[in-house]
Amino acid sequence: MITRFAPSPTGPLHLGHAFSALTAWQRAKDAGGTFLLRIEDLDADRCRAEWEALIFEDLDWLGLDWPRPVLRQSDHVGEYETAIAHLAERGLVYPCSCTRTDLRAALSAPQEGAPAVGPDGIVYPGTCRARPMSDRRDGDALRLNIGRAVAAAADLSFEETGPLHPGHHRIDRMALVTGTGDIVLGRRLTGIVAYHLAVVWDDARQGVTDVVRGEDLFTATPVQVLLQALFGLPTPRYHHHELIRDERGRRLAKRDDARGISTYREAGLSPADIVMKIGL
Ligand code: GLU
Repeated sequence: MITRFAPSPTGPLHLGHAFSALTAWQRAKDAGGTFLLRIEDLDADRCRAEWEALIFEDLDWLGLDWPRPVLRQSDHVGEYETAIAHLAERGLVYPCSCTRTDLRAALSAPQEGAPAVGPDGIVYPGTCRARPMSDRRDGDALRLNIGRAVAAAADLSFEETGPLHPGHHRIDRMALVTGTGDIVLGRRLTGIVAYHLAVVWDDARQGVTDVVRGEDLFTATPVQVLLQALFGLPTPRYHHHELIRDERGRRLAKRDDARGISTYREAGLSPADIVMKIGL
C-alpha cells in the first residue's frame, strides 16, 4: 500500500492540509504501507521555495515521516511533454489558441447550447477542435479531444473508500464529454492546467495504490481515470475525505493565514492540539 500527500507550494499549509496529510500517513501506517510526499510545483508563477520549505517544516513538526528525496514535478516536465506527445500521435490532442476572454464570451453568448461550467472551468466549446497538431503555434494550449478519448478508453471505473461516496463508481462517459469537456493538458506545462496529466503520471510512476485527498478533488477523478485508461496505467483506490471548514462553514483556503499550521505552531500549540482541532 502506497499513498501520498501532494501539496502545491503556493501558500502555508492549513488545518485542511494537516487533516489530509495525517489521514494519508495514518492509513499507510495502519496498512504497513508507505506514505510519500510529492511537491506539485508546476505553476511557476504561484509556487515559491519558501512555501516548499515550510511544507517540510510543518509536516516534520506534525510528526510525519516519508522517504527522501521527494519527487518534485518541476524536475519532470520533459516526461509530461512526452506523455502528451504520445496522446497526440493517437489523434487525441489538438492545439488551441482560444483566450480566456474568448471562452468567457462563448459562455455569455445567449445561443442555445452555450457551454456550461464543469469541474475544470468552462466546458470548451470546441472552436479549435479540428486543428491538426501540425498547425500548433507558440503559446497554443494542447487540449484533449475528450469525445475521442472516451471512445478510445476501455473500462472507466474506480473504487472509492472515502466516507462520502463509498463503493465502485462507473464513470459516465457522456457526462465527461458534456460536463468536463476538452481539458487543457499543457501549455508549455508551466500552469495548473497540466495538473491532471502530471498527477496521473506521477501516481503511476510512484506506484501509488491509494490516493487520499480532499472531497474538492472528487470531481477531478473521472478525467484522471480516463487518462490512466488511455496510458494503460493502473487506477489506484481513491479516498476523498471531508473538508475542514471554518466556523461559518466555508472551506479553508491558503490565504486563511489564521489557520496556518505554522501560525498555530508559533502560538505555542502542540501537534496533539492540531490533531484535536481537526477531530482526528
Ligand atoms: N496538488 C493538489 C493540491 O494541492 C493536490 C493533488 C492531489 O492530491 O491529487 O490541491
